Amino acid sequence: MSGLPEACLWIDGADHPGRGAARCLVDPAIEAPLSPFREADADQVAQAVATASAALPRWADTLPRDRAAVLFRLADLITQDADRLARIEAVNVGKPLSQACRDVGRAADYFRFYAGACDKLNGETIPLGPDQTALTVAEPVGVTAHILPWNYPISTLARGVAPALAAGATAVAKPSELTPFSAVELARLATQAGLPDGAFNVVLGGGETGAALAGQEGVAHVTFTGSTATGRKVMQAASTPVAGVTLELGGKSPVIVLEDADLDAAAVGVLRGIFFNAGQVCAAGSRLICARGVHDALIAKLAEKARAMRLGNPLDDPDMGPLVSAAQLARVEGFVERAKAQGFTCALGGQRVDRPGFFYPPTIFTDIPPEAEIAREEVFGPVLITHLCDGAEDALRIANDNPYGLVAGVYTRSHDTALWLARRLEVGQVFVNGFLSGGDTVPFGGVKHSGIGREKGLAGLSAYLAPKSIILNHAGPT
Ligand code: NAD
Repeated sequence: MSGLPEACLWIDGADHPGRGAARCLVDPAIEAPLSPFREADADQVAQAVATASAALPRWADTLPRDRAAVLFRLADLITQDADRLARIEAVNVGKPLSQACRDVGRAADYFRFYAGACDKLNGETIPLGPDQTALTVAEPVGVTAHILPWNYPISTLARGVAPALAAGATAVAKPSELTPFSAVELARLATQAGLPDGAFNVVLGGGETGAALAGQEGVAHVTFTGSTATGRKVMQAASTPVAGVTLELGGKSPVIVLEDADLDAAAVGVLRGIFFNAGQVCAAGSRLICARGVHDALIAKLAEKARAMRLGNPLDDPDMGPLVSAAQLARVEGFVERAKAQGFTCALGGQRVDRPGFFYPPTIFTDIPPEAEIAREEVFGPVLITHLCDGAEDALRIANDNPYGLVAGVYTRSHDTALWLARRLEVGQVFVNGFLSGGDTVPFGGVKHSGIGREKGLAGLSAYLAPKSIILNHAGPT
């Protein structure tokens, strides 16, 4: 039908058909059916957590260099299988093939990076005087649950599971019900790489399955990536097993372009920031806050570049593919139509593309009041809005006047102004004179409604480690 593998659960090192509801997806580019799959039922979710719990002592006690060897092997297997994995992601998500290849490369890189950390999880000693020695041992937190969205299925999965496994913890992952295909492929490769059975399990399903997983007794930490509304529910569910939470949530990230900015560089960054992956990016730069004097010139540059973008089938590697689903398309159209009905200026796009598939063109609304729905809520599509600002202080005020706080961009030739803004922007990551340019070894995560905790880089390990303090009393000979 679609050339995609069958999606099934992966529990205790083997695949299992789900025993829950059946689901059918369609290829977002051509609306042809993809292979149907069945969700896990509640017993299978409990079984996956019990299996991860049973596998914990063996994996936690595996020597750090041996854990590293498994994760390095897994990274190599992902790299060897990259073409096939990238095609799965491209067809399932609707993302251009070269972007899907990049995602698979990032997944391999997460395993390589955290493999290298396995034997560097040092503790510390704390001075208590000559008759006592206190030390900490970085122990694995236990069974970790990973609940994922659909926009970067394989790289977001690796972003959480790689540090968890490096720490000696075990994992149960639940991909989005829209993108179930790559997770079990990754788990299969992990088993092939020598990961003990049960250390990494996959269950499939939607919100109910996610809630059952987050609330399952035996789960020690839940890493959730998704919308803020669901993040709140996950936090509540995780209170049953008293699990820790990492929440990587939505965003409405500002990109500030000041009067003295290099406008060509800004146009490149703003364009990539909102139209890459058809704007379905948590860190999308969806609010351009632009100095009044350069606004029209920047919009002209953006519109020219955006008009030249090719929309097409992901496997033909266009500049932009379709949105992931009919529901996502309807969501984007809803925001745009309501903004048009309010009389806001649509400088580009704003009309669904007349072809099969869930395509939506690059769209720009200009000079939007900060209180408008389209300025406050996450559209999660290729829709940019602009605000006009008068100087850095005004830009900062507009940028911070939003419930989200994921990332921000700043374009200015003044390093002083850039740093002044970077220190005051209420976000977890700031890009100066570039956008989404940091790579995956830099800590990432939000503040305010964008989340709790940090992933990526060495900071990404801390959620999966539970430092234990040991106090030795040694009063000496009597
Ligand atoms: P979503 O919140 O609808 O779903 C995310 C995951 O949660 C899915 O696997 C879903 O099945 C599951 N889920 C749904 N209800 C649940 C419940 N009650 N309990 C437990 N799990 C439940 O989000 P989405 O539409 O899949 O993804 C888009 C959102 O994800 C956007 O808001 C985007 O900004 C965010 N996102 C954030 C990051 C980040 O790193 N900050 C990265 C990617 C996406």
